Amino acid sequence: MADIRYRFLDLKPVNAPYEAALKEAANRVISSGRYLHGEETALLEKEIAELCGARYAIAVSNGLDALRLILRAYKELGIMNDGDQVILPANTFVATALAVSDAGLVPRLVDISPITLNMDTAKIEAAIIVRTRGIMPVHLYGTPCWDRMLKAIAESYHLKIIEDNAQAIGARSTTVGLNSSYSTGALGDAAGWSFYPTKNIGALGDAGMVTTCDESLAEAVRTLANYGADKRYHNIYKGNNCRMDEIQAAFLRVKLRHVHEENARRDRLAHIYSDNIINESITTPAFLPGKQVWHQYPLRVAERDRFRAYMLEHGVETDVIYPMPIHKLPCYADDYAELRFVEAEKLSQDLVCLPIGAHISAEDGRIIADIANSFK
Ligand SMILES: *Cc1c(COP(=O)(O)O)cnc(C)c1O
Repeated sequence: MADIRYRFLDLKPVNAPYEAALKEAANRVISSGRYLHGEETALLEKEIAELCGARYAIAVSNGLDALRLILRAYKELGIMNDGDQVILPANTFVATALAVSDAGLVPRLVDISPITLNMDTAKIEAAIIVRTRGIMPVHLYGTPCWDRMLKAIAESYHLKIIEDNAQAIGARSTTVGLNSSYSTGALGDAAGWSFYPTKNIGALGDAGMVTTCDESLAEAVRTLANYGADKRYHNIYKGNNCRMDEIQAAFLRVKLRHVHEENARRDRLAHIYSDNIINESITTPAFLPGKQVWHQYPLRVAERDRFRAYMLEHGVETDVIYPMPIHKLPCYADDYAELRFVEAEKLSQDLVCLPIGAHISAEDGRIIADIANSFK
């Protein structure tokens, strides 16, 4: 096998430009003597709230915890109860569904749109039952999942909208959100964010965020993330320990200053791929109105596995994100054995993601596109 010239992902060059600033940030935290709930965390919360236009931001341990805490908080506030349903797309990372299950709620899957690759908002209404309490749109691959239909349905059925914003920091919709922002993370009632190292802005470890404009929800999330204590040794909920490390907050503040550059670089590469790939057996992703931040660049190729082998032979590593829709995963297969989601199942068969990130230059992008074009 030929050498891999273009890795699917390589985090070293992602963080290399920030190395000096990251070391300085680490030193600042080390000598501060404050390693949790310090100034860096408070400032990061403020910066994320400002970035998206949410009133409150609560720094937490990771993206799964962010989503889990929102749902648990809705339960503590009496808005959701054990066994209630939350609607989410059949094609997402497992954490979206796990957050719902972990909170004692039931994930109700909806098929995706073959255009947006996000939840098909026209199919939401048919999935609503008496016990439906929420909708979790996932801004998958960096494409906002937000439109008038979604808003109108949530309004008429009194459903909470919890965005999974793990892949879409900096993305914008053309339809205004519930609180007059157009930015993902502030479109719905609450949002969970992830700063897992591979995300568009990644920590050097685990970290996540909750954003919302709802004061009582923000308070409940903050309390639940801190053992359920609203004051020291005064535990009003059976909570968790879901804090963000001060050192990760300091790292993230360094990288957050460059979020628009990082997203612009991804956008350039996505355009290079789309402008240069002209192979009839390859379908490139749709450029949609609003701002997509290209966490992934997803292609569709009927002979996906043969395409992947061909690319690898020519030095290009690809990945399939995700190879199985939620209802096919072993942990959910028993619950959802009878369900069929035609579009999500098709996507899991023909989806293949090209490398995208700081390790792929514009020139690399053209070369990779040429290799894809030579696939027959
Ligand atoms: C990464 C991711 C998560 C989970 O975030 P972690 O920080 O890894 O827990 C949730 N949803 C989606 C769509 C993700 O991509």
